Amino acid sequence: MEKAGADESQKSWHTLSTENSLELLKAPAGGLSHVEATKRLAEYGPNRLPEAARRSGFKRFLQQFHHILIYVLIGSAAITAALDHWIDTGVILAVVVANALIGFIQEGKAEKAMEAIRHMLAPRANVLRDGERHRIEGEALVPGDIVLLEAGDKVPADLRLLTAHGMSVQEAILTGESLPVEKHTKPVASDVALGDRSCMAFSGTLVTAGQAKGAVVGTGSQTEIGRISGLISEVETLTTPLVAQMGIFAKWLTILILLIAALLLAYGYFVGHHEFTEMFMAVVGLSVAAIPEGLPAVLTITLAIGVQAMARRNAIVRRLPAIETLGSVSVICTDKTGTLTRNEMMVASVLTCQHLFALEGDGYAPEGLLKLEDAHVAPSEHAVLEELARAAALCNDAFLREHDGVWTVEGDPMEGALLAFAGKMDVDVRKTQAAWTRTDAIPFDAKHRFMATLNHDHERHAFVFVKGAPEQILAMCQDQRAMNGYTEALDIAYWHGKAEAIAALGERVLAVAVRPVKSDHTVLEHGDVEGTLTLLGMTGMIDPPRAEAIAAVKECHGAGIRVKMITGDHAKTAAAIGKQIGLQNPEKVLTGRDLDGMDDAVLRQTVLACDIFARTSPEHKLRLVMALQSHGMTVAMTGDGVNDAPALKRADAGIAMGLKGSEAAKEAAELVLADDNFASIAAAVWEGRTVYDNIKKVISWTLPTNAGEAMTIIVALLAGMTLPITPVQILWVNLITAVTLGIALAFEPTEESTMRRPPRPRDEPLLTGGLVWHIVLVSLLFLCGVFGMYHYAVDRGYSVELARTIALNALVVMEIFHLFFIRNIYGTSLTWKAVRGTKMVWTVVIVITAAQFAITYLPLLQTVFATESIPFLDGLLIVGVGVALFAIIEIEKQVRLRASQKVTNDHARS
Ligand code: ADP
Ligand code: MG
Repeated sequence: MEKAGADESQKSWHTLSTENSLELLKAPAGGLSHVEATKRLAEYGPNRLPEAARRSGFKRFLQQFHHILIYVLIGSAAITAALDHWIDTGVILAVVVANALIGFIQEGKAEKAMEAIRHMLAPRANVLRDGERHRIEGEALVPGDIVLLEAGDKVPADLRLLTAHGMSVQEAILTGESLPVEKHTKPVASDVALGDRSCMAFSGTLVTAGQAKGAVVGTGSQTEIGRISGLISEVETLTTPLVAQMGIFAKWLTILILLIAALLLAYGYFVGHHEFTEMFMAVVGLSVAAIPEGLPAVLTITLAIGVQAMARRNAIVRRLPAIETLGSVSVICTDKTGTLTRNEMMVASVLTCQHLFALEGDGYAPEGLLKLEDAHVAPSEHAVLEELARAAALCNDAFLREHDGVWTVEGDPMEGALLAFAGKMDVDVRKTQAAWTRTDAIPFDAKHRFMATLNHDHERHAFVFVKGAPEQILAMCQDQRAMNGYTEALDIAYWHGKAEAIAALGERVLAVAVRPVKSDHTVLEHGDVEGTLTLLGMTGMIDPPRAEAIAAVKECHGAGIRVKMITGDHAKTAAAIGKQIGLQNPEKVLTGRDLDGMDDAVLRQTVLACDIFARTSPEHKLRLVMALQSHGMTVAMTGDGVNDAPALKRADAGIAMGLKGSEAAKEAAELVLADDNFASIAAAVWEGRTVYDNIKKVISWTLPTNAGEAMTIIVALLAGMTLPITPVQILWVNLITAVTLGIALAFEPTEESTMRRPPRPRDEPLLTGGLVWHIVLVSLLFLCGVFGMYHYAVDRGYSVELARTIALNALVVMEIFHLFFIRNIYGTSLTWKAVRGTKMVWTVVIVITAAQFAITYLPLLQTVFATESIPFLDGLLIVGVGVALFAIIEIEKQVRLRASQKVTNDHARS
């Protein structure tokens, strides 16, 4: 049997006619059957590009050693070995390997998290299967599938186009040409270049305008992009500007410390006349103590956990820096339909030239009673209703499906509502659509706010059907359908008045019009619909607000974040919904026309006071973003259409809709909402703030620990004292306990006050004055604790080994108490909740405590780390040191919090 499709991929599909292509693909015009598609999927494999070669586990492990400090440690292992200090050599090497292992596991976790996210963003495709429209995973496409494309889609496979209406495609990833090219269905010569194969749409390119239908001729690696995919495998590293900045900071700090260490070594050896080995080990200890080697890894984990947490709340991060930006968002500009509202539409009002009907019903089920002034009426009593319903069903791309009595919509919910409406008017949608074939269409776009189709029946009648925003359609009409079926003069005031009244109820108003044309008319142009239409009537659709959006808007207001609604809908509808949602000033609405009348300076002044923008087009979004940014605000902006891309890119956090959004919008966005829900934006901001806090906590915990230890060694060296903690012990504390304890902070849950604080200023540095002060204070306290305990022990006549063991344990205990302190930087740590901690905190604390007991009391480890068993009472004293540290910094925090509270209050009063 001759096989169709992919293995004939070299075939020049662009030279074949559409009929020949379909024949060769063995593809029926109504799409493959599900059975055939399954069969072909098994044969050709999933429509997936071969994955970029990943780093092998071994290579990833080796890379853990690629760090200056590790090189220094390996060098010192060699030197200690040369000096016959075998135990030190062993400890250094063991600690180095253990540290690499911890890093390896952490990194693996982070990579896994990112992988999972990437999968959630897998593109989907609209196909015809068994004659019905379905939305399926792009990976499930097979040769012969009939794919439907519209503006904003990413072409999911290589397609031979079968129909194309005003279709243009941006093919830059294949041809480098950034201007969109027009597409047709006529075959072209066999030797034309890829960019001129105008009857083909290639996988990975972007539809910028129009609509088309095409047959899949190649999938996966058999596509044009698949052939060159080796070139475009992009690897994203897990980082954000702040974390990258910390990485650079850590690198310079490392170099600085190594320099200081070298100087100290020279000083101690030549000036202080210390023994070289001892001196050498001391400066190695110093380097290890001072360099925050674990910091980048812990920060990476913190980010990965943030990404996961957001994904769990339906916010999928596409670009990692967004995590940071989200935390500082000060204004959210959001769509209305589907984001603040449920996007479950139902026609509730029907307006004709004389009557305003009410229509009942439930969801998309095509059954419901028609009422006129509270009395039931039959649709058949008013002929215009049938004509209106037929037009609504034909000028429509949606599809209703029933399953177990539940009706769902495939496509635009608003159009689904119109289909249900047609059903309620006793119009058989399928029969009507079959009888009136569509020959051409002008797809809806947010700029023109209407959609038109050209339909022919079998008796050589032809009509143009148009639906769209009432003002738009009224401007395109010359007359209206009268009760008697004829046309009469257009009563513009009547329609405007009624449309506004329906909109004021929060309903979305849509006007429907018609125009008969000659039967040889087969191409639809804008000129065909302008000023020549007959208005049939209007519909009003309810779209209730989402309950969780109302709560989220309130939460945002509490967090000092402004919420602005930017919609293409009618001003009255927008105001009504704005009020229900709880926007701050729902009375003031600016329309796109108002915005057009303002220059940027005026807009700048007005933008803050207005929360609702109606009848806007995508260009307005861009202007609004810039106006808000000029006030220093961090702007989050949502979008779904192709034309929203510039505004999404310009916004600090561009947010695309995962369900109804176009691929173009998703590609321009930093964040994609899996459920299109405003509440998920608020959740993302909340998680963004949490991640930022946790990054700050990790840093605030790590740096004082390092500084405290380093100062201990430097002070001892300069004062010519014995080191209160040996270099090998320092190695242990830093590479094992510190890294382990630090991880707990990456898992910190959100602090209670997180969404009650105003947003952080965009340019707030990570190392604020407060943080620097904290580092200084805590490292001094660490210094006192360690020296204090060491001297106490020496005074009691303990051996140096025991004194050091006590100092070492005091250090770790202080780290643990500091950890509990850091968990609550914005509130008190003295609550039951704070004590209860998290599973992660207690896990690491228990692990580290056990490890400390082991190196203190196990004879074998005592030899390795030169430790001695600590008497019980001294053990208690060590814990006491931790408590004292905790008490001091907690009191200091309370004083600081109270003081700043007072400042804010005074500020508020004045
Ligand atoms: P929103 O911001 O509410 O999503 P849109 O930009 O999608 O608004 O739509 C703006 C207006 O365009 C709607 O109020 C409606 O009148 C009209 N409209 C929306 N979708 C369609 C469509 N598929 N066909 C015709 N008109 C439409
Ligand atoms: Mg919309």
